[in-house]
Amino acid sequence: MLIFATRPLSFISSFHFPLQQFCNNTVTSMDSSKPFSTTMAADHSSSRESHKVVVSNGEAAISLEEWRGWGTTSTVPSMVTQVVEDLNMLEKNVDAQMVFGGNHGKLSGDFKVQEDKKHRAKYQSLGDSEQKLQFFSARQIACRVLGSRGYLCQKCWLCSGDCMCSKLITCPLWNRMRFWLYMHPKDFLRQNNTGKLLWQVFGVHAASLCLYGITEHEDMMWDALKLAGKDKVWCLYPNKNAPTNSVKDSMAGLSFANVENHPEMADVAHSLNFILIDGTWSNSGAMFSRLKDRYKVMWGEEEIPCITLNTGASLMHKLRPQPSWDRTCTAAAAIGLLDELHDLPNFVSHGLDNQAKALEDAVEVLFEALTTRRLRMGRSITRKERHNHDIF
Ligand SMILES: [Zn+2]
Repeated sequence: MLIFATRPLSFISSFHFPLQQFCNNTVTSMDSSKPFSTTMAADHSSSRESHKVVVSNGEAAISLEEWRGWGTTSTVPSMVTQVVEDLNMLEKNVDAQMVFGGNHGKLSGDFKVQEDKKHRAKYQSLGDSEQKLQFFSARQIACRVLGSRGYLCQKCWLCSGDCMCSKLITCPLWNRMRFWLYMHPKDFLRQNNTGKLLWQVFGVHAASLCLYGITEHEDMMWDALKLAGKDKVWCLYPNKNAPTNSVKDSMAGLSFANVENHPEMADVAHSLNFILIDGTWSNSGAMFSRLKDRYKVMWGEEEIPCITLNTGASLMHKLRPQPSWDRTCTAAAAIGLLDELHDLPNFVSHGLDNQAKALEDAVEVLFEALTTRRLRMGRSITRKERHNHDIF
């Protein structure tokens, strides 16, 4: 295992959001001009992968069963269904078959040329930024689902041949905690995403996926948050414009005696809700703003309570550097939170240390699977990641 001290800032600076910002003791020494462009290899290379998904007429519709198979409890989002219907319609009207090549639901061939024109025109025609965001998200999600069909394992989001599901060990999360993975559409179905590990380990009701810009998901999350109440909602995000609190400051004063004496109260309405922003650093600002806006509409407060972790550096001891480090932050942030909570007297009896360990083991399993895959495909495990943050 490579110990953190042997690679001081080189790999802390290779981290994406949000972990590097959680590391109070390292953030000031980072080269702020390029922390997000020096990430280690991620599994982005569609060009060297011979994978093609052909969706023929009439087969494109996404069923509820298929949708939920990817890790969500929601209904099929209506705008995603609409996008799929539009793709079907286009296929009927042009002389080209709907083909997805490579990873991440990218259309290819003649159909792509036609669809590009069509979706760009549609995007331009939309009146406001909210509609544009919803369309962007729905199109991303629809293409990713169709392009991954029959190719990725629905549970672990790895190619079926690399499936790591049999190596994962599940663990119940303390029933008063709930994680929300607020995920950017471009991180949905990414093989190296670590947010998915949370629901793989803890289950979809303890760690729920909320896709950015997908109304059904965002409504589901905010309904649950409303039920829990604003004093039970935190976002793990280093809010530069407002003071963030440490885990200790935010949580040390909470008492659970009431619920412990009445286990039946340990339901949704009494859960502590932690929102993890699961996206690249460049996307996270917009995602956080959206959370903040909705929080304000719901509770009339300018600032959503934010928590900063202080165990970033020590956490790094535990996780081996591997390919795809840039995406480890989401799971690492959850591990850090569980560890820090466990250190508080009022949380110590809930087994959060074991739950953190279970998640840590899952991260190791994912890294091993990704490394095996890269080696099998003859790729370097230190290749730099290409970045493309442009919308469309
Ligand atoms: Zn799997």
